[in-house]
Amino acid sequence: MQSFIYEALPSRVIFGSGTLARLGEEVERLGLRKVLVLATPRQKADAERLANSLRGRAVGVFAEATMHTPVAITEKALLAVNERAADGIVAVGGGSTIGLGKAIAVRTDLPQIVVPTTYAGSEMTPILGETRDGVKTTQRSPKILPETVIYDVDLTLTLPPTISATSGINAIAHGVEALYATDKNPIISLMAEDGIAALARALPVIVGDPSNHSARSDALYGAWLCGACLGAVGMALHHKLCHTLGGTFNLPHAETHAIILPHAMAYNAASAPDAMARIARALGVADAATGAFELAGRLGAKRALRDIGMPESGIERAAELASQNPYPNPRRIEYGAIRDLIARAWSGERPKA
Ligand code: NAD
Repeated sequence: MQSFIYEALPSRVIFGSGTLARLGEEVERLGLRKVLVLATPRQKADAERLANSLRGRAVGVFAEATMHTPVAITEKALLAVNERAADGIVAVGGGSTIGLGKAIAVRTDLPQIVVPTTYAGSEMTPILGETRDGVKTTQRSPKILPETVIYDVDLTLTLPPTISATSGINAIAHGVEALYATDKNPIISLMAEDGIAALARALPVIVGDPSNHSARSDALYGAWLCGACLGAVGMALHHKLCHTLGGTFNLPHAETHAIILPHAMAYNAASAPDAMARIARALGVADAATGAFELAGRLGAKRALRDIGMPESGIERAAELASQNPYPNPRRIEYGAIRDLIARAWSGERPKA
C-alpha cells in the first residue's frame, strides 16, 4: 500500500476555444469593477483589445512585464495599481506576465484572472520567483495562486513554433519531476503522465503546422496538467539546475529547460525506474532520457548551453551552486557527476547516466 497526502489547490479553470469571450463574466463573478490588464511589450496590443472588451471594467494596461520578474518593474506596476485604484488583475501572456500579476497579488492580495498564452504552467502554482539586483528568490503563498484561469486555445496559435517547442518541453519537465517527487501521489502522477503524453503527441505536429487547432488544444491541455503538477509536488534536480543556470547566467527560461531535461533524467534514471517507465510510456519510447533528447532535437530546440549564452568558465560555478544546499532528489547530488552533466549539456552531447 502506498501512503500519500493529496492537497487540491483552489483555482477555477475554463478551458476551450473562444473562451476569452467569457472574461467579462469572470470579472463580474469575482465582483471586480476596475481591473488592471498586464502584458509584455510584445503582447501590448492583445492586452489593449482585451481591456476594451471589458467595457468600463478595466482601468488600463500595464505592458512592461519581463522575464524573471524584476522587483523594479513590480514596483512600477504597483504605482499604476494604486493610482488607478485597481481592484483586480488580468494577466494575459506567458510566465513573465503571470509572474508580474503574482508579484502584485502577493503584496496587495488582489484577485487574479490569468489568460495563459504559453505552456510554462505558472498559472497553476502558488509559487513566485522574482529578482532583485540579479538575485532570484522564490516564495510560496496561497495569495500567489491565481483565482481564475481562462485557457483559450485560439490565443496559442500565434506562439512561434520555436517558443512552442521549448515552452512545451518546459511543461513536460514539470510532469517528469512530479513522477519521481518525494511527495508524489497517485492523482498528480496520473496528471503528469497524461500531460506528458498530450504534449509529446502535440508538439511535433505544432512545429510543422503551428495553426493545427487540435494539436494546440492537446498541448495546452498537457500544459495545464503539468502546471498543476508543478504547483502540487516538489521539484528536484532538473528545476534546481535550470533555476541556478537561469539566475546565474541570465539564460532564457524555456530553452534552458529544453536543454537540461534529458540530462537530469539520465542522472536520475537508475534511482527512479518506475517513474522512468511511466515517462517512457507517455513519450512512446523505450528509454525516457534518450527519448526526451530526441524529441527536443526533432522539435528543433537548441541542445547546447553554449548556444544560449552560457560561458564554458561557468560550468564549475554552476556545479558548485547546484550541489550546495541539499534538496530532495531520487539520486544523491554528487558534485563530480553534476559537473559532468552540466559539461555535457554545455557542449550539446547526448545524455549519459
Ligand atoms: P514569457 O512569458 O517570457 O514569454 C516569452 C515571449 O513570448 C514573450 O515575449 C511573450 O510576450 C511572447 N508570447 C507569449 N505568448 C505568446 C503568443 N501566444 N503569441 C506570441 N507571442 C507570445 O515565457 P514563459 O516561458 O512563458 O515564462 C518564463 C517565465 O515564467 C520565467 O521568468 C519563469 O521563471 C517563469 N515561470 C514561473 C513559474 C512559477 O510557477 N512561478 C512556472 C513557469 C515559469
